[in-house]
Amino acid sequence: MDRKALHKISYGIYIICSKNNDKINGQIANAIFQVSSEPPIIAVSINKKNLTHDCIQKCKLFTISVLSEEAPMKFIGNFGFKSGRDHDKFNDIKYKLSDNKIPIILDYTTAYIELSLINTVDVSTHTIFIGKVIDANILTNDPVMTYEYYHECKGGLSPKTAPTYYKKIDDKIKNKEEKKMDKYDCNVCGYVYDPAKGDPDNGISPGTKFEDLPKEWVCPICGASKEQFEKE
Ligand code: FE
Repeated sequence: MDRKALHKISYGIYIICSKNNDKINGQIANAIFQVSSEPPIIAVSINKKNLTHDCIQKCKLFTISVLSEEAPMKFIGNFGFKSGRDHDKFNDIKYKLSDNKIPIILDYTTAYIELSLINTVDVSTHTIFIGKVIDANILTNDPVMTYEYYHECKGGLSPKTAPTYYKKIDDKIKNKEEKKMDKYDCNVCGYVYDPAKGDPDNGISPGTKFEDLPKEWVCPICGASKEQFEKE
């Protein structure tokens, strides 16, 4: 079986927000689809381990913020690779609250949709939350970020809790076949430091060995320190 066939399915990159009492939370999700048009109903798959999962179960309301291609990796990493249990994801983020007090992200958001939970489906590691659309608006006409764009153009990865995640066995095999300089994996988010590419966004030029990175250098996606990295 070639698991890469599953990568041929298209998705977008979204931030799902909800709340539990006064505690708001949001996370990246890609597995979303419209189930019916009259009434408009949308399904979202969320890992049971995620804080957002508990929030949606309790408050039965959630929003989807549709991200544009402009969204930087650091912004996505904040919502995708960190937990709201120990980190304030909304610090420095532009957002507003819906009439029901659910956050709607305004940074890099082309459109948002608010939903009221009408059903859930238990699917092993995940729950599919099915919601009826109660509000929706377009904010910009910027191109929407597809999952493919996230992977191909941004070098994005899937966290272990994503429904589309699987161990990058095929990639590791491919890397061994190529002439391998020492790449290092972030143990927190899975980001791969590739010396051939460096980290130009943070002033690290291509050709810089991992060993030569400054001590204060951190993972550009999740902010983990160098010690959290492991040689591939
Ligand atoms: Fe990381």
